[in-house]
Amino acid sequence: MDLHSLLGRHEPDLMASRWDEGRFVTSCTICGRPMVKPPGGGWLLARPRR
Ligand SMILES: [Zn+2]
Repeated sequence: MDLHSLLGRHEPDLMASRWDEGRFVTSCTICGRPMVKPPGGGWLLARPRR
Protein backbone atom coordinates (compact mmCIF):
# COMPACT_ATOMS: atom_id res chain seq x y z
CA MET A 1 0.00 0.00 0.00
CA ASP A 2 1.42 3.37 -0.94
CA LEU A 3 1.42 6.42 1.31
CA HIS A 4 -0.52 8.56 -1.13
CA SER A 5 -3.50 6.21 -1.04
CA LEU A 6 -3.24 5.93 2.71
CA LEU A 7 -3.41 9.68 3.30
CA GLY A 8 -6.11 10.12 0.73
CA ARG A 9 -4.90 13.49 -0.49
CA HIS A 10 -5.69 13.25 -4.13
CA GLU A 11 -5.26 16.21 -6.44
CA PRO A 12 -7.87 16.47 -9.18
CA ASP A 13 -6.48 17.48 -12.55
CA LEU A 14 -8.79 20.45 -13.05
CA MET A 15 -7.39 21.21 -16.49
CA ALA A 16 -8.56 17.82 -17.67
CA SER A 17 -11.92 17.73 -15.92
CA ARG A 18 -14.95 17.08 -18.08
CA TRP A 19 -18.71 16.73 -17.70
CA ASP A 20 -19.95 13.16 -17.75
CA GLU A 21 -23.44 11.94 -16.93
CA GLY A 22 -24.34 14.66 -14.43
CA ARG A 23 -21.02 15.08 -12.71
CA PHE A 24 -17.48 16.22 -13.39
CA VAL A 25 -14.83 13.60 -13.86
CA THR A 26 -11.05 13.77 -14.02
CA SER A 27 -8.07 11.92 -12.63
CA CYS A 28 -5.68 12.48 -9.75
CA THR A 29 -2.51 14.26 -10.86
CA ILE A 30 -0.48 12.24 -8.37
CA CYS A 31 -1.67 8.67 -8.76
CA GLY A 32 -3.81 8.89 -11.89
CA ARG A 33 -6.87 7.29 -10.37
CA PRO A 34 -10.25 8.47 -11.63
CA MET A 35 -11.99 11.15 -9.56
CA VAL A 36 -15.54 12.51 -9.65
CA LYS A 37 -17.23 15.68 -8.40
CA PRO A 38 -20.96 15.37 -7.80
CA PRO A 39 -23.05 18.57 -8.07
CA GLY A 40 -22.58 20.60 -4.89
CA GLY A 41 -19.97 18.22 -3.56
CA GLY A 42 -16.22 17.93 -3.45
CA TRP A 43 -13.81 15.83 -5.41
CA LEU A 44 -13.75 12.15 -4.51
CA LEU A 45 -12.04 9.11 -5.83
CA ALA A 46 -14.37 7.41 -8.27
CA ARG A 47 -15.61 4.03 -7.18
CA PRO A 48 -15.53 1.26 -9.72
CA ARG A 49 -18.97 0.45 -11.09
CA ARG A 50 -20.23 -3.06 -10.57
ZN1 LIG B 1 -4.20 10.30 -5.99
